[in-house]
Amino acid sequence: MIIAVDGTLASGKGTVARGLARTFGLAHLDTGALYRAVAVELLKAGADPGDTEAAADAAKTLDPQRIDQAAIRTAEAGAAASVVAAQPAVRAALFDLQRRFAEQPGGAVLDGRDIGTVVCPDADVKFYIDAEPRVRAERRWRELVASGDTVQLEDIARQLAERDQRDSSRETAPLMRAEDAVLLDTTHLSIDATLAEAVRIIQNKTGAAPRI
Ligand code: C5P
Repeated sequence: MIIAVDGTLASGKGTVARGLARTFGLAHLDTGALYRAVAVELLKAGADPGDTEAAADAAKTLDPQRIDQAAIRTAEAGAAASVVAAQPAVRAALFDLQRRFAEQPGGAVLDGRDIGTVVCPDADVKFYIDAEPRVRAERRWRELVASGDTVQLEDIARQLAERDQRDSSRETAPLMRAEDAVLLDTTHLSIDATLAEAVRIIQNKTGAAPRI
């Protein structure tokens, strides 16, 4: 069983994807972490995230087992990730890795921006998770502050608008809802309620039984 979870920044898609993987006993891949890790490699080397050659090289040599989880979670890494993610050579270099993960025996949940449209158009169930921009900005701001980042809410709101715009307007694999994706709006829905709804939809659609 392959479950695709796409959506906007800070919509709750990562939490929902992890919850679904736990509930159905599936492997989980946060594909945003791959783009963030490529971006961090470039930032560490003092390279420009818009440098297509350096970005493609970093993507080709990325070892997903050795991603520095703390380094990829900063606001700077997220912004640079969205710049490298707009480059076709980077997306091509990361495609096989994501596809292999999806095809592993036992199935998988992948979350990102183009899982239901490009990486796994054949997914058994697809979700598109979204929420109003202001609610998402506040969520991301709280997360960053809790992890020790000193950031202003207004800056985060501006960056989020820029990220949404860049992710949905790029030519290769833009962020968009797959035609057959179920839309879950988390503006007024808690993550627990969203997860429960997603579990119910998967059960109805596939007959799969939760493991927990
Ligand atoms: O989801 P997250 O914020 O970690 O993703 C960081 C960036 O990576 C996104 O803004 C997007 O540009 C890019 N991304 C992508 N395709 C994916 C996952 C992430 O383009 N499947």
